[in-house]
Amino acid sequence: MDKILIIDDSVVQANMLTSILEEDYAVTQAQTAEAGLNYAREGEFSLILLDVVMPEMDGFGLLRKLQEEVVTQHTPVILITSLRDVEHEEWGLTLGAVDYITKPYHPHIVRARVNTHIKLYHYRQQIEQQAMVDPMTGVSNRRGYDAAYFSKWQDAVRLKVPISLCMMDIDKFKLYNDTFGHPAGDKVICAAARTMDSSLRRSTDFLARYGGEEFVAIMLGGDSKVVFEHMIGVRQAVEDLHIEHCPAAGPWVTVSIGGVTLIPKMDDDYATYLKIADVMLYDAKRFGRNQVVWTNEKMEQMRER
Ligand code: GH3
Ligand code: MG
Ligand code: MG
Repeated sequence: MDKILIIDDSVVQANMLTSILEEDYAVTQAQTAEAGLNYAREGEFSLILLDVVMPEMDGFGLLRKLQEEVVTQHTPVILITSLRDVEHEEWGLTLGAVDYITKPYHPHIVRARVNTHIKLYHYRQQIEQQAMVDPMTGVSNRRGYDAAYFSKWQDAVRLKVPISLCMMDIDKFKLYNDTFGHPAGDKVICAAARTMDSSLRRSTDFLARYGGEEFVAIMLGGDSKVVFEHMIGVRQAVEDLHIEHCPAAGPWVTVSIGGVTLIPKMDDDYATYLKIADVMLYDAKRFGRNQVVWTNEKMEQMRER
């Protein structure tokens, strides 16, 4: 059931709205802008109904704040008010409200408008979700990665747990395409993605197609040795698919993997460590491909062979 937040200093008004909506939605009430903001920050609401005239921070002020904050800016807000003049309505819509309902309202109209905006909210969520997935492989795409990596990094900083950044790249793939054709190459990318994805099954693991035949993974927990060993398993799993490569490249399609594990501190820079993971991948290629090269914050390199 979708959650709706009603922010109104009048309990009578809030109860009236609740009675209209509670059959179809889980309704939460807040009596002040501040309490409303705190609820909204939980980020679980599909819609906010916001009273404009409130003491202290009014609805316009709160709307502005909601629009500024990352967590709340995508939650649709309907303003509900007795201010019937055009200027107020225009101001509310300019600030980003999706709709504006003036009192007195008709319950059926409120319900209809709420239903519409909840539908639009779901539609938008679905589109945004799809935009983050690589249609070919079904794993996250670059956009999904861009939206995810920083919160992973922050989680690791906050929880003081190790984070591993990992780059994976299919070996001699240009040769594969040239030999077997691009459509066959696509199938290989999909098979590799499936194998990597099923080897990274923890809820905190994240895998994305970084571009072309290159993948990036982020993992939380596990020291460098443990993750290194795990990635050897992933590399082996791809080799064990026994996808025939062209003779010049070796019997099977393989991947090279490079990565770094560290416990990040507040002022560490994500990009620096991703670059290190990329250097490890480059080393794996340089040392002969089909292998894992890993390091940690002390730059102690581990090599498979
Ligand atoms: P290395 O072992 O050094 O990684 O060699 P490589 O040939 O794999 O590396 P390179 O970067 O030269 O070539 C990558 C190739 O991947 C070139 C490009 O045609 C192919 N490629 C990139 N994206 C796709 C795709 O979506 N489908 C297919 N079939 N091929 C792709
Ligand atoms: Mg490659
Ligand atoms: Mg490449």
